[in-house]
Amino acid sequence: MNGYRDLRVALLGGGSVGSQVARLLLEQSDELAARIGARLQLTGIAVRDIHAKRDVDLPRELLTTDAERLVLGADIVVELMGGIEPARSLILRAIEGGADVITANKALIAAHGPELAEAAEQVGAQLSYEAAVAGAIPIIRPLRESLAGDHVTRVMGIVNGSTNYILDRMDRFGDSAEEAMRVASDLGYLEADPTLDVEGYDAAQKATILASIAFHTEVPVDTVHREGITSVTQAQIEAAARAGYVIKLLAIAERLTDSNGVEGVSARVYPALISREHPLAAVHGGKNAVFVEAEAAGELMFYGAGAGGTETASAVLGDLVTAARRHVAGGPGIPGSSHAALPILPIGEVFTRYQIMLQVKDEPGVLAKIAGLLSTHGVSAASVEQSVPDGEDAEQATLVIGTHTARESQLAATVQALRNNDAVAEVTSVLRLEGNS
Ligand code: NAP
Repeated sequence: MNGYRDLRVALLGGGSVGSQVARLLLEQSDELAARIGARLQLTGIAVRDIHAKRDVDLPRELLTTDAERLVLGADIVVELMGGIEPARSLILRAIEGGADVITANKALIAAHGPELAEAAEQVGAQLSYEAAVAGAIPIIRPLRESLAGDHVTRVMGIVNGSTNYILDRMDRFGDSAEEAMRVASDLGYLEADPTLDVEGYDAAQKATILASIAFHTEVPVDTVHREGITSVTQAQIEAAARAGYVIKLLAIAERLTDSNGVEGVSARVYPALISREHPLAAVHGGKNAVFVEAEAAGELMFYGAGAGGTETASAVLGDLVTAARRHVAGGPGIPGSSHAALPILPIGEVFTRYQIMLQVKDEPGVLAKIAGLLSTHGVSAASVEQSVPDGEDAEQATLVIGTHTARESQLAATVQALRNNDAVAEVTSVLRLEGNS
């Protein structure tokens, strides 16, 4: 027994992640006990069907369908069931009983994080969710603890592996959007209903969590501006590549000053152009990465596997060891922090750059008209490229305008005015341009 005390660990869920957490807990029991100074005793694994076939052989005597009972008397509860209910109620019950809680459930933390954090704080318990954003990548603890003495100004991440895989295939292999989706689906990168990924809902949940932690402010998920990748075309990807850019689905959380001089938080998800020189451009396939800018630390990049049973289990075990050490040392858990309570700014207040692609009439004076229209709306062009298709009698030209930074509301009004202008046949593409390099 080595004289270690036991800490009772209840595992809710024995699926992709839960089964790997159970395996590692059982296989590394002695090593973990030595690291913690207490033995983690797995008291049970709650599942829906104890007879279901599983990739990992879980000890039959540990499986139970009675999750409520399992939670009672646990020192630490690890929730890996997913979904809102019964996960939320079980976590609240665990906290009421004084247990620390670890979860990878981004949907739950995005929707009910403040409620759960408050409940934990009331009893001095620890609520940890490192695995809820970007799987194996340590990003919650760096933001919460390592950067606790700094001022984070911006967090920009590729936090959805499925959409990164699709966009990466379109960029590197020239796939159409449909082809890339089909390959992603065949390889199991997409759920049966891919909407959560391709419409940006999953990334928005992660943006909420990142923004809340980085800026000590509650950022409800419905305040996150969200655009998915379904409108991204191969033509846009090719045009981006010609100009030295790549299109990535970005989750961005940023501290900004609005047009009235009020400091607030912007959280948003959209496909955007970034320079091929930017570190996020080198994130290929299903990988994730989070780029953090802080006043003193400067630029930091966190990169790795954003999903996968074993990979995600690593982050869960990290939280588990930390919680167990606290049990040994005593004292309350680190509370959630929302003291800054900054206002949430609408998308119109964001400062960004645009790349606008237009079909215009190929006749004298068009460029001057377009330039005038931009300046009326307070937007200035950083670059203008004009190309006329081969053929003598082409009546239209393609213009690609890169703008300088302006408020999103001005840029949106400019695009609207372009759409209404006689000289413009069509606005074919509008993409934001992110990143400094
Ligand atoms: P999963 O494979 O679907 O496993 C879910 C497990 O929970 C299963 O064992 C299931 O039982 C059990 N379960 C579900 N509802 C239950 C209920 N009402 N009562 C008792 N047991 C219940 O899910 P997962 O992929 O492991 O994901 C778990 C969590 O981790 C989710 O919140 C997910 O968002 C998060 N996460 C996953 C990944 C990843 O790569 N998979 C990455 C990051 C975060 P049965 O086995 O009997 O069906």
